Amino acid sequence: SRQQRLLVVANRLPVSAVRRGEDSWFLEMSVGGLVSGLLGVKGFEVSWIGWAGVNVPDEIGQEALTKALAEKVRSLGLLLDTYVVSCIPVFLDEETVHQYYNGYCNNILWPLFHYLGLPHEDRLDTTRSFQSQFAAYKKANQMFADVVNEHYQEGDVVWCNDYHLMLLPKCLKESNSKMKVGWFLHTPFPSSEIHRMLPSRSELLHSVLAADLIGFHTYDYARHFVSACTRILGLEGTPKGVQDQGRLTRVAAFPMGIDSNRFLRALELPKVQDVIKEIEKRFEGRKVMLGIDRLDMIKGIPQKLLAFENFLEENAYWRDKVVLVQIAVPTRADVLEYQKLTSQVHEMVARINGRFGTLTALPINHMDRSLGFHELCALYAVTDVALITSLRDGMNLVGYEYVACQERKKGVLILSEFAGAAQSLGAGAILVNPWNITEVAAAITQALNMQSGEREKRHKLNFSHVKTHTSQKWAETFVSELNDTVVQQQLRT
Ligand code: UDP
Repeated sequence: SRQQRLLVVANRLPVSAVRRGEDSWFLEMSVGGLVSGLLGVKGFEVSWIGWAGVNVPDEIGQEALTKALAEKVRSLGLLLDTYVVSCIPVFLDEETVHQYYNGYCNNILWPLFHYLGLPHEDRLDTTRSFQSQFAAYKKANQMFADVVNEHYQEGDVVWCNDYHLMLLPKCLKESNSKMKVGWFLHTPFPSSEIHRMLPSRSELLHSVLAADLIGFHTYDYARHFVSACTRILGLEGTPKGVQDQGRLTRVAAFPMGIDSNRFLRALELPKVQDVIKEIEKRFEGRKVMLGIDRLDMIKGIPQKLLAFENFLEENAYWRDKVVLVQIAVPTRADVLEYQKLTSQVHEMVARINGRFGTLTALPINHMDRSLGFHELCALYAVTDVALITSLRDGMNLVGYEYVACQERKKGVLILSEFAGAAQSLGAGAILVNPWNITEVAAAITQALNMQSGEREKRHKLNFSHVKTHTSQKWAETFVSELNDTVVQQQLRT
């Protein structure tokens, strides 16, 4: 039988496009948890619909990019290991991107869903621009819906992703009530007390509820969503979901995973083994600690640095025997708050290296860049302790990837209890509250001194989880639950 067609809709395509000429484009993979997770989706005929991350005002450029995305994505080997058949671009103009993406998505929804509150500087300005940003958000969601409608065939499953597209389920159902529509949130869904601050709180909830199935990474996020619907909309919450005038929208937790075999295979490659040897030589005689984060406020990088500084203060013995390798992937670099965060982190790194560095060794090796997949695997493999201090994080796949690459070393994972991953890797990791700097410093000490027996035991727990809860299973479970939900709805009516 033919594979089921799956239309994945997300704000960004898994590739970014760079223009090379009037009608020529260069495509490169984008970095992020959503892309990593969805790339593990196998067994479906997948079309991915999203924005390519560039403004293309002219028709020649749009046609050329559409063609490049449809044809070249596979042949370039960019999406190796996946069944992504084609990428379909949504063209957003500059003003829409500014208001919808930078404005409503990144300046309002992102901070709020991560408990960072609504913007409070220039309060009047923000309040005033809220309306126009929400209008742009609506417009953008409708533009995504138009592209979905253009490519939809009967029987397709439409999988909408993330906070950028909360109005999409309603737009889609309004044009075709038979369409199978799922929506998955990759960030936390906050307590209803936080969500209710949003001026558009009800409209967002109602629109998402138009989907047949709503998925979250953890049970807590699902519970928060159901409470928001009961408290703010006055609807009825049931163990299965949310009930509105006899219609049930299924709400459930589907914790994402990774394609662990992809990492295990990479570690076998001679070129990855070479990089491993190189890094080991470079840091010989020192334990390697690792942080890998987009340079975002939610990742708690300053808190991590303060904890590491506190650890070095208290443990003179370790000062020249440990290095913290921190990869800080630049993100939203045109936004002032992110620029401020970058400066703050740089200042702290310089201070700590200044305080504790010697002629031969600096305690922190900080990089403002992303790594390629093979370098990343090598780095995971040589690491003794991974340090994840997210203040809030939908899931955090870095922890999963680290565990996948640690069959040889059995390193220790220190993981923030505010990352969704803490609910699945809690048994093997050392869980910490990243706001408590002395607690994190103590966890570092514990991790560095941990005996191999305990490290093995902890690693085994995490490894078996990572091996079995793969991104492929995650996607299969979500889609089959969506198919089942639709069948059950039809039986009820
Ligand atoms: N990543 C990468 N290159 C880098 C750093 C990170 O490809 O230099 C990938 C990493 O492998 C992981 C993703 O970026 O899959 C980060 O996902 P996570 O869920 O941890 O956080 P997000 O960035 O989505 O908030």
